[in-house]
Amino acid sequence: MTSKEVLITFLKLNTFPIEELTAGNKKFLERYSIDREKTDGRKDPSANDILKSKELIVLNEEKKAYGETDYYNRYPYVRYAKDLIKYYYDKYNTEKRREGFNTFKEFIKWWNEQGNVCHYCEIDAATSGFAFRSRIFRPKKDAWKNGVLQIEKKNPNGIYKPDNCVLACPLCNNAKSDMITSEEFIDHFAEPTNEYWQYITKDKIEHMQEEIIYFSSLLHINQNDKAVSEKIKQLANDYKLPQSADSLFTAFDEYKIPYNFIKNTNDIWIRDFMPVKTKSKRYVSFRYEPWYLEKHQHLRTGYRKNKINDKFPLPIVYSKRNLDGGNVVFSPDKNKVIISRRVFEENYNNEKEIVHELERLLEAQVIIIPSLPKKEDMTGHADGMVRFVDEKHVIGNKTGDEFEDEIKTALKKYDIEVIDFPFHDPKDPDGISAIGCYLNLLETKDHIFLPVFGIDMDYKAIVKSKEIFNKIVIPININEIAKKGGGLNCISWEM
Ligand SMILES: [Zn+2]
Repeated sequence: MTSKEVLITFLKLNTFPIEELTAGNKKFLERYSIDREKTDGRKDPSANDILKSKELIVLNEEKKAYGETDYYNRYPYVRYAKDLIKYYYDKYNTEKRREGFNTFKEFIKWWNEQGNVCHYCEIDAATSGFAFRSRIFRPKKDAWKNGVLQIEKKNPNGIYKPDNCVLACPLCNNAKSDMITSEEFIDHFAEPTNEYWQYITKDKIEHMQEEIIYFSSLLHINQNDKAVSEKIKQLANDYKLPQSADSLFTAFDEYKIPYNFIKNTNDIWIRDFMPVKTKSKRYVSFRYEPWYLEKHQHLRTGYRKNKINDKFPLPIVYSKRNLDGGNVVFSPDKNKVIISRRVFEENYNNEKEIVHELERLLEAQVIIIPSLPKKEDMTGHADGMVRFVDEKHVIGNKTGDEFEDEIKTALKKYDIEVIDFPFHDPKDPDGISAIGCYLNLLETKDHIFLPVFGIDMDYKAIVKSKEIFNKIVIPININEIAKKGGGLNCISWEM
């Protein structure tokens, strides 16, 4: 097997769109793979050096060299492919596995031969992954939560070598452990486990949407959990969590909508720091350095800094632009995206340049709407001002002031009509509270989770939502969360 074949093998194992790669991309990935192989996978070669040596980094107008990040920005799949290469090398790179598999090539040849299914119950890697990620199974062990096939030793007393290793799903690997022999497991457990998987697929997976909704794990923290730091508990207490989010998860359970939690967040507003998903299903991670957190750095979560990226190996582009995810409002088919002018205040280049770059990154027409001064609206997020109903209609806060008109005028230029949506002014002198902002709702395939606040206007918002959206409307009281500045869209994120 040549290095090139190794590369193609693991890209194929992950149904990677190889046709998206340019000749230059392939040159880079091949060299990266070969260089890593030279050290038997132990050393991570410098992608920057490779790009330079292959003359894949070109000079821009100011004769400044584009770096690795810029290269990935132009070719988003390349980073993903590189990370895959790294993933397999890291799997191989334990002393015991290196000993048994001799070379990385042998290791990858072995992996390829396993056919990406569980050796015992024959469930495929994709189904297993989905079932775990969507919390049909909820193991406590972190390493089990992504549901990937695991390397299992048939004879637990033997070493890690190709003829003693198979790939096994977490269910089989766990059940067999070191108690049952491989042969006995096949005879007595493989078929029943396969039947069990069929039941899971038919009864649960097929009823689920593809999309999983994520929340910060702060929202379901247990105050008695000794593993949780006092600082985090205090933060949860400040937001009166998890009580204030409880009705939301009860509703999710009731309507069988898959959801999960993201750990290591410093705050609950995950919409803002998680990557944004574009129509080609790649992700863009922006800088999350809003002015309002300048003096509260401990509340700032970084997708990379907090190592959330380890748990979510997404096809991702990292952008140097400073932009909160809450200020990115896509239309249903993701051809249009509404962003408020706050983006110009947080980035210093010329406005045209910023729009041009965002259009390229987000693969959509960028539509800029006005934003209020920072004192009146702390975040300036578009998702607190408008939400799409279809490609030509958005709902907008019926504030009854000039600002409402400004938004309508701005959108009219793009042939987008604003439907008035109930709004209640919280009269918050600090411009923080999101109480009364009904349109910061959480939309899933068949449901609208509508924030309500225990005020008279709730009823109007419910009626209006039922009128506008052809979906089941579920009101959720999130007063405590809204007081801190956000609604249901702010605390959620779709993978
Ligand atoms: Zn299995």
